[in-house]
Amino acid sequence: MQDIVSAIVSGNATPEDFAALALPGSYRAVTLHKSETGMFTGLAGRDKDPRKSVHLDEVPVPELGPGEALVAVMASSVNYNTVWSSLFEPLPTFDFLSRYGARSPLARRHDLPYHVIGSDLAGVILRTGPGVNAWKPGDEVVAHCLSVELESPDGHADTMLDPEQRIWGYETNFGGLAELALVRANQLMPKPAHLTWEEAGTPGLVASTAYRQLVSRNGAGMKQGDNVLIWGASGGVGAFATQFALAGGANPVCVVSSEQKAEICRAMGAEAVIDRSAEGYKFWKDEHEQDPREWKRLGKRIRELTGGEDVDIVFEHPGRETFGASVYVTRKGGTIVTCASTSGYKHEYDNRYLWMSLKRIVGSHFANYREAWEANRLIAKGKIHPTLSRTYALEETGQALYDVHRNLHLGKVGVLALAPQEGLGVRDGELREKHLTAINRFRAPVPAAG
Ligand code: NAP
Repeated sequence: MQDIVSAIVSGNATPEDFAALALPGSYRAVTLHKSETGMFTGLAGRDKDPRKSVHLDEVPVPELGPGEALVAVMASSVNYNTVWSSLFEPLPTFDFLSRYGARSPLARRHDLPYHVIGSDLAGVILRTGPGVNAWKPGDEVVAHCLSVELESPDGHADTMLDPEQRIWGYETNFGGLAELALVRANQLMPKPAHLTWEEAGTPGLVASTAYRQLVSRNGAGMKQGDNVLIWGASGGVGAFATQFALAGGANPVCVVSSEQKAEICRAMGAEAVIDRSAEGYKFWKDEHEQDPREWKRLGKRIRELTGGEDVDIVFEHPGRETFGASVYVTRKGGTIVTCASTSGYKHEYDNRYLWMSLKRIVGSHFANYREAWEANRLIAKGKIHPTLSRTYALEETGQALYDVHRNLHLGKVGVLALAPQEGLGVRDGELREKHLTAINRFRAPVPAAG
């Protein structure tokens, strides 16, 4: 493994050098164990501690199949799907792996008593399988997390509609929180040259998701001048939605839960920011009943910030806790676009506000290759920036998951895999220099010297 790291860090190894490097027989990977899926039974979601369920194991290198690539992972990230899988919620991911494994002899590789998790990576290709022509050993890449088979016609207009659509590292094995990862070649994209490994390894999943959800015609199809209410606007998907809204000429109305997060939204360029903690919104009177007066208070606050206008789009993901309010505050004819239900997936809203005002609810999930590519292209051009706030070592992944589960983080947190330290991997110093302030915007403030 050391020879692989040395070749990558040297920055001048050729494709032939990479192809000639010997592959190790095993690698270190963050895993969940099938034997432990019952360990949190009876505990409330909040009390489940991912530090107890994730392991750092030495696992065998998987066999490389047609159309696949084996990648040396320099850095990865924690996504909320990794939080869900580490809590075995809503289902243990081993059910996904065994269903996938039953599909074909090649897919059987994924059905193991351990699950290598993680749905992001930045790294270097070591080997490609038969039929891969667009990529070669030595290419510096990031990977998006859409895994598709495309044997059915259903997925050919929009690959997210493939009946065999899976999220790599969540519904498949050999994910990114590891020293090596197995991906399909059609997950690969060029690593943005002006970013470090850990910066490049964090946007993939969330930026692609936000791009489809907000910008793509498959999502809300945002246009210039739209008012967009963004929940969790400094979090994983929300901070990219905020940037896409600003870059696309829309007006984000950012909702966050602290002054520090509000400050980050302003630093990104947002003018309308709501601190939901300071303003004390309480959309549910109790477990069963919502409080429409609180929806109205939010609507009034939005109008104060927009000069009297309602929002054209609500960028939804908190789910149960906010959904009633989201449907209410959307303008007549507007769109509520949702990709998640962090606070609960049984939503309730007053349907009169939907049908009488001709609003639409649109479901959105990850992104197709083209949408992921568009998001990555904007990052590579320095028009959209990573939101890395902190980097953890591979052995600290449990703590990183705990911090995201407890909402103690900002933007995204990165995880170093083979990268021996932060700050490596920049190939375009000039572009980086131009955007350094924006790239570092989410970094935890460095304490003043002295
Ligand atoms: P994240 O980094 O934790 O950010 C979510 C933010 O939402 C939080 O920081 C919080 O911000 C806000 N929030 C959380 N609970 C809330 C509540 N009850 N009411 C209002 N705001 C709340 O997570 P993420 O990466 O953005 O992911 C968010 C959700 O999207 C997760 O459930 C994840 O699984 C899902 N997701 C789905 C897809 C997909 O393809 N379908 C892709 C990515 C993510 P404040 O505290 O600042 O308000």
